[in-house]
Amino acid sequence: MKQFKTESKRILDLMINSIYTNKEIFLRELISNASDAIDKLKFISLTDNKAVSDFNITITLDKDNRKMIIADNGIGMTKEDLEKNLGTIAESGTLAFKKENGDKTDEQLIGQFGVGFYSAFMVADKIVVLTKAYGTEQAYKWESQGAEGYTIDEIEKDGYGTSIELFLKQDNDDVNYSEFLQEYKISSLIKQYSDYIRYPIQMLMTRSKRKEGSPDDKPEYEQVQEMETLNSMIPLWKKPKAEVNDENLKEFYKNEFHDYADPLKSVYAKIEGAVTYDTLLFVPSRAPYDYYSKDYKKGVKLYCNGVMIMEKCEQLIPDYFGFVRGIVDSADLNLNISREILQQDRQVKAIAQSLEKKISSELKKMLENDRENYEKLFAEFGLSIKFGVYAGFGMNKDKLKDLLMFYSSKKEKLVTLAEYVKDMMDGQEFIYYASGESYEKIAQLPNIEKVKEKGYEVLYFKDGVDEFVAKILMDFEGKKFKSVSEGDFSVDNEVEKQELDKKKEENKELLSAIKDCLDGKVKEVRLTSNFKNYPVALTSDGDVSIEMEKVFNSMPNADGKMQAQKILEISSEHGILQTLNRVFSEDKEKLNKYAVVLYEQARLLAGLSIENPTEFVKAFSEII
Ligand code: ADP
Repeated sequence: MKQFKTESKRILDLMINSIYTNKEIFLRELISNASDAIDKLKFISLTDNKAVSDFNITITLDKDNRKMIIADNGIGMTKEDLEKNLGTIAESGTLAFKKENGDKTDEQLIGQFGVGFYSAFMVADKIVVLTKAYGTEQAYKWESQGAEGYTIDEIEKDGYGTSIELFLKQDNDDVNYSEFLQEYKISSLIKQYSDYIRYPIQMLMTRSKRKEGSPDDKPEYEQVQEMETLNSMIPLWKKPKAEVNDENLKEFYKNEFHDYADPLKSVYAKIEGAVTYDTLLFVPSRAPYDYYSKDYKKGVKLYCNGVMIMEKCEQLIPDYFGFVRGIVDSADLNLNISREILQQDRQVKAIAQSLEKKISSELKKMLENDRENYEKLFAEFGLSIKFGVYAGFGMNKDKLKDLLMFYSSKKEKLVTLAEYVKDMMDGQEFIYYASGESYEKIAQLPNIEKVKEKGYEVLYFKDGVDEFVAKILMDFEGKKFKSVSEGDFSVDNEVEKQELDKKKEENKELLSAIKDCLDGKVKEVRLTSNFKNYPVALTSDGDVSIEMEKVFNSMPNADGKMQAQKILEISSEHGILQTLNRVFSEDKEKLNKYAVVLYEQARLLAGLSIENPTEFVKAFSEII
């Protein structure tokens, strides 16, 4: 017996002992696997001369043996396929499981990785897979009774394709597994979850029929079994729009894209114009675990007149909308289109352009009419849109800027830039922002103090890319972005301003001495009235801010050359100023230690690490 890979085992355990209430979805999963397998074979047969047809999926219910069989005549699996596909849970599952196992419920865990085939262990205590790959001779039997492992043996099997045999669990107080052996139950589940599967799903149904020749006045009936097709087979996107509701779209999405959670947004559109196509578009409710990595493959399923020609056509979707899943079906496409040609294909380009416009307008509508879900979308995929603004030197920024949201200090929720500008105070010139690692940390930054006191709204930039976005946008509706640490919030008040100017003049020598002590670490030491509850803060001057420096330095081949020109700000209203003046007049040597301690403190407040721990600790302990 072969062991499952460790994580697969844990997920299997979860499935076997699952209290997941929606156990019936196993059927949807197995049917959609069967349909995928037929899709694959159908695609091969388009290019292969040997025409294959009569595709179907059959369900057999064997009450005596508590067995349900789901069989397809799709592509089948080789021995290697069996090992790879059914011996390990898809990589996705493994990683996600490791990353955020935490104290999630079954429901959430199962929802998280979409473990397809394994969901059958929620209803079966033994699963046997009989399969023969198209174009091969040898068939195989894969068998497993759960977490201990599985076996693979050679068998005889007529024809290619796969049969999945489920040996149903015994009924208990909570679950009536026998239900899944009832014809009506299965037939209604198929209608509910798998109606638009494009291949016939067939099952022997028992019907009561009038006996032939029985007299009209005294009809006699008998029970007969007939093979029936349970699904309508009409692809959802071929149905008239009036017949498709949001529920149908949600079900379709979950079925087709193996997600357990409803999408945040579903769109069904029939586009006519320069190009004609039908499309179903969906925004998932959470980002796939690998969404922000190189491994993620964007793209929509591409069909030509109902025949799938590509599983993920990436040319149709721009990177910044890479989270959108969906289907495009166009009769205008060339069936024999190859991956290489696709890049240059005029029709594909035209569809891509049209699709981008559609997505963009749908997202804007969502922002206006369904704010709650748009905010959820932005929490999951906002980064993607932000990267889109910044990428390519901002070539797409105008298309995307209205979709951006940032956290507002005043409203304590996400706002759009248009909303920020609309609510600006009288005479306010700039869009103010403050950067840091988290909203909590930003809210505590020294430089936030005065600006809030004065009533300005501040946007909290917590993503590394945010300041880059502001830099590339430059302004929004003519209002320039400005970091709170660059602002001087005394300027609007003559008295405050004069007072600050006076103090600056009085402390000129002190400030210059502190700068000398810091020996090139800072470009300037200056007084500020932006805060008084902290002695010091670190800000920057020039194109590279402190947050940007952090981003640059976290890049794989950082050379440390991208440095912010740092400015040590000292509060003009904090007691530290007197202390520094005293030390400066009494003991110039000692000032050096104060400078070091204050500088390192300012670094900590800005989210940087201590530059020279030894020097800091020495200076600090000597002072106290
Ligand atoms: P997913 O379908 O999400 O990839 P599953 O666990 O449901 O994950 O299936 C794993 C893999 O096993 C599939 O990707 C497919 O390659 C293979 N597979 C499952 N069922 C069948 C089938 N009926 N015919 C051929 N291959 C199958």
